[in-house]
Amino acid sequence: MLRARLSPLFAALLVVTAASAQTAAPLSAPKIAQAYTASRHDQLTAQFEEFLRIPNVAADPAGLRRNAAYLLQQLRAHGIPAVLLAAPELPENVPPVVYGELKVEGATRTIVFYAHYDGQPVVASDWATPPFAPVVKEVDGEARVYARGAGDDKAAIFAQLTALTALQAANFPLKANLRFIWEGEEEAGSPHLEQILDEHRKLITGDVWLVCDGPVDQTRKQVILFGARGDAHIELTVYGPEHPLHSGHYGNWAPNPAMMLAQLLAGMKDAEGHVLIPHFYDGVAPLGTLEQSALAAAPVNDERLRREFALGSSMGGGEHLLTLLNQPSLEVTGVTAGKTGAQATNSIPATATASLDLRLVVGEQARIQQERVVDYVRSQGYFVTSGEPTVEERTTHARVARMVLDEGEAPLRTAMSLPIAQEVVKAVESARGSVILLPTSGGTVPLDAMERASGSPTLSIPIANHDDNQHAANENLRLQNLWDGIETMAALMAMN
Ligand SMILES: [Zn+2]
Repeated sequence: MLRARLSPLFAALLVVTAASAQTAAPLSAPKIAQAYTASRHDQLTAQFEEFLRIPNVAADPAGLRRNAAYLLQQLRAHGIPAVLLAAPELPENVPPVVYGELKVEGATRTIVFYAHYDGQPVVASDWATPPFAPVVKEVDGEARVYARGAGDDKAAIFAQLTALTALQAANFPLKANLRFIWEGEEEAGSPHLEQILDEHRKLITGDVWLVCDGPVDQTRKQVILFGARGDAHIELTVYGPEHPLHSGHYGNWAPNPAMMLAQLLAGMKDAEGHVLIPHFYDGVAPLGTLEQSALAAAPVNDERLRREFALGSSMGGGEHLLTLLNQPSLEVTGVTAGKTGAQATNSIPATATASLDLRLVVGEQARIQQERVVDYVRSQGYFVTSGEPTVEERTTHARVARMVLDEGEAPLRTAMSLPIAQEVVKAVESARGSVILLPTSGGTVPLDAMERASGSPTLSIPIANHDDNQHAANENLRLQNLWDGIETMAALMAMN
């Protein structure tokens, strides 16, 4: 298009320049993206707000469908044939996966960009401004846009689309095929993702899956995560009398399940948070040398986080948070027994229940880890059942526990030494400078399901600010993170 307007002489000059441009570096993809966004902040913010205005919560399936339709149209506007992916046996209200592929002639590689368009549920009354009426506010002299999904995870989708716009406007020669996979059920735990991906295996494979979700480091530096911990849960109930008993008439005599549970839980960990359950750390795959040196180079934010969370101490025997995230964990996430405060009664409760959350690292399996906890409870003299214990069971055993195990999600880690991983790091560094590399994210992402379905290694490349109130009221995105994220996405799209 541009060339048609040039005079023949100038066109000839251009040919010469193009030939010598083999040696002179052309404008890089992140630089193109930077130039594109710098002159369009207001326009792009307004476009992002248009996307944020479409409600994206699970309780509003019609809203989620509108998001999917909007994204379909956005991809098509970029010349990308796009479709909605579903699985035939799924109910119609399951939000579809938005899918598009940009085929590049002669490409030998395919890069897959994953993000999600759904957001966490909202309680509108908790928000300073309505969750689907985006507004820009200044925080510490910096602009942020407030709306559900702003940080988690519409920012990533918008960054991908805008990076592509910038590269296409500059006629940047892409070298790899690009695939976009935007899920609508991530915040509900991706219950149908693997099923949908399985149904469309041919479409979703690639040389690497880039999972663009979550926050960058607290120092605002770019992070690349090479894996995620797995997760498994146990609901543990211990039993006392068949109904609550008068604590004066029966105290000191009737076994008290609140106390039994407290003692049982107290034996599971020491004061430094080390899990005492036998074999709990068995099988943990050690970090490689690259992973270890990446961790050693990562910033230590522990002191600042203790201040932020009003903590007088942290556990781990002096280990930093980022190191501890590479170990399995056991946390009590809730305890109930009897009543407290104004509802307190002078009675010995009939049961006491704790919810346990087990995070898993590579080398461990959900069921085996759960069974280790079950074995521990047995070793403390408990008869363990998975169903509600019968009167017979309660009277014939001194101690009775019910343990309900969930299916759990597997951990996953991509080796930092993988050539494609190193290329991704190089690409991100070309946009963001030095990057923090972390072997594992503490939280759980269905990387395992993605990898099983696609056969591709996964790397997580978040762009949102850590203080974006993700999952809470007043979710926001620091706009500088959006501009930075667009450059990062452009760099990744420009990969070979
Ligand atoms: Zn997310």
